[in-house]
Amino acid sequence: MCPGSRRPIRGCLIMAAALLIHSESICAATPAAAPRQVRRIRSWTAPDHTRVVLDMSSRSAYTSRVLDNPHRIVIDIPSGSLASGVSDVEVNDGVIAGIRVNRLKSGAQIVLDLPQKSTFRDFALDPNKELPHRIVIDVDRILSEKEQEEKIEQVKTVTGSGDFVVIIDPGHGGSMPGTCSKNGIREKDIALEISRMIAREIDSNKGFRAVMTRDGDYDVGLGKRVGIARDFGGACVVSVHVNSMPPSKNSSKIRGSEVWFLDLEGARDENAETVAERENMIAEMGDEAEDLGDLAKFILTDMGRYQDMERSARLAEKIGSRLRGSGHIPFRSVKQDNFVVLRGLQRPSVLVEVAYLSNPRDAELITQENVQQEMASNIAAGIVDYLTENPPIENGKVSGQTITHVVSEGETLWGIARQYGLSVADILDLNGMNENSGLKSGQELKIIMRPEARQQQSDKR
Ligand SMILES: [Zn+2]
Repeated sequence: MCPGSRRPIRGCLIMAAALLIHSESICAATPAAAPRQVRRIRSWTAPDHTRVVLDMSSRSAYTSRVLDNPHRIVIDIPSGSLASGVSDVEVNDGVIAGIRVNRLKSGAQIVLDLPQKSTFRDFALDPNKELPHRIVIDVDRILSEKEQEEKIEQVKTVTGSGDFVVIIDPGHGGSMPGTCSKNGIREKDIALEISRMIAREIDSNKGFRAVMTRDGDYDVGLGKRVGIARDFGGACVVSVHVNSMPPSKNSSKIRGSEVWFLDLEGARDENAETVAERENMIAEMGDEAEDLGDLAKFILTDMGRYQDMERSARLAEKIGSRLRGSGHIPFRSVKQDNFVVLRGLQRPSVLVEVAYLSNPRDAELITQENVQQEMASNIAAGIVDYLTENPPIENGKVSGQTITHVVSEGETLWGIARQYGLSVADILDLNGMNENSGLKSGQELKIIMRPEARQQQSDKR
């Protein structure tokens, strides 16, 4: 990643707590057995790919090849074996028909049957505390021309709507569960539930529209999250996570929600370092298959970042002041740190840790729908507060919904500008006019509606 982005990992102690999880959870670690043994096969369907993960008992050499007629991907693990419970898996998601396991004399073989020819990537991962040695195969979803057009159309509809687009980013997902509570509550699930609620709240505000970076249980790399924010012209990004403390004498006592924003100078206090290390570590793990070189370059040349830091701080304060009103989970504070997940977004971005899974009270509360809804409503209200007071700046100009104003007799440019909370220069610029251009009755002017102006307009009606 970016130079200097890695500090020694100390926050990973948190993962030790996850070892106590029931066997169903992917947080659970099973005792090591035979070497090169496939212990479990899992798959996650994302909109653009399907990820298959082979949980291995040890680091295992393997080969991958693609065969035609019928289309399939074959993974061979020489001298490998399959644990007794490992059997064929039906997937049928349009990308992979099914996964077959073959116990060969020469070793273990995994076959991914494909409904059509596809591209794929494979790589091995070392254990990361609760996650074992893994072999990962990402198979791309091949979109038809029509599906590609629909995808482009969807982006156009959102960006052309004139609405303020809010990017809601549920942390982790798929093979990356994030932190886990003692009784198996996973960060990725809570983050998704609350994110969906935030998105619904945002959508219920006129002139606002939410776009989620993931809307299901699958992996989304950092580069992709940044890409979604950029493609949809997000006015701001809110990443939703659940916190956890490394086990120590008093760690389970710490509870509450926190809002974090990017501080390019790095951590401000001990706890900040721990949180950032953990989130950064997990974020980086999620991107192992992606080339982050370009992303790093993109960030380093991003000259607008200091302004974004100031706007991010304001966004964090707005969300924080709403969260202070939460009745169930206490609000702790707004904090700064150097999060990888917030870098490169080039727009006001914050990370909300909604509770501490390491605190039994928080862990219990945060699974309750009314508590999740309360947190979501407060986060959404904070976002709306922020954007209403700080409309996004694009190319140095205010942005918002474009409308047409029909000039009536006696109106002046100055009067129209004041009516919409714009400057005369804004209106001239938008309409390709200069100071000498006259204004006549019936003339149509393009106007950018800022949300507070929209509110005033609807109040007048
Ligand atoms: Zn997280």
